Amino acid sequence: MPDFYAVIGNPIHHSKSPLIHKLFAQETRQDMQYEAILAPLDGFESTVRAFQQRGGMGMNVTLPFKLEAYALSTRLTDRANAAQAVNTLKFIGNNDILGDNTDGAGLMQDIEINQRVSIAGKNILLMGAGGAARGTIMPLLTLKPRLLAIANRTKEKAQVLQRQFSAHGNVLSGHYHDFSGESFDIIINATSASLHDELPSLPEGIFSKESLAYDMMYSQELTPFLRFAQQQGVIKLVDGIGMLVEQAAESFFLWRGIRPETKKVIEMLKNKGH
Ligand code: NDP
Repeated sequence: MPDFYAVIGNPIHHSKSPLIHKLFAQETRQDMQYEAILAPLDGFESTVRAFQQRGGMGMNVTLPFKLEAYALSTRLTDRANAAQAVNTLKFIGNNDILGDNTDGAGLMQDIEINQRVSIAGKNILLMGAGGAARGTIMPLLTLKPRLLAIANRTKEKAQVLQRQFSAHGNVLSGHYHDFSGESFDIIINATSASLHDELPSLPEGIFSKESLAYDMMYSQELTPFLRFAQQQGVIKLVDGIGMLVEQAAESFFLWRGIRPETKKVIEMLKNKGH
């Protein structure tokens, strides 16, 4: 009997996680099955429990359930605790659920290893203050940037994050126009604006030609954020497909104790046009 895993979300039909984990299982010769489960918006916990009762061993959690997964976890990894959001569940016995957050680690792996861009000593602009941004701050600060500026449409949410994390590094917060005239080495779009074909109100001058513009969203064409960066002369334009595969590899490691090779899987998804 294979071991059962799943990704849970709403909507979920677009998820690439079943394909990614199938490729990981083949590569590492793990006897496991991985499915996508649509949970009703008011039925996250009951859907998780039902999967656990069917013999499920772990789950990935995507929008909009990462906060509920955090609340449901009976134990948390340090990074899930810092993020206050959970994207990976591991069932331990009948009663315990370990909650982890692999999003930040996935992003760091994609920026530092796949893109060969080092974070230490850099000026970083993090756009957004939602779940994805929150999961990224501690992993970023651990790598010792010179400055981490958090910009958000609702400024107060960025200020909350600044207060929460400023003991761990040089953290600023503000609205986008508060950073007008400042140039950043790495600009990460952790907003959901690209999903709606929108662009946060970025001031000109935040990019230099050498900057890395990174959009956590992925799509076949350049996102509005990456198009804007390109118009500003940026050459290094990266979308979130590498992050997606790397965070999946981190989850796989938590469940199976083996970290799969990610390079071929990323290439395959890119060649399929995502
Ligand atoms: P949330 O809903 O938690 O946060 C949304 C954020 O986007 C908020 O900061 C919100 O600002 C901002 N925002 C939304 N629309 C606009 C707009 N038009 N202009 C300016 N700001 C806007 O979402 P998540 O943090 O969970 O996800 C964010 C993105 O990251 C999504 O696109 C998601 O797909 C992607 N993601 C990718 C992953 C990957 O592996 N590649 C992993 C995780 C997430 P405000 O506070 O003002 O409302």
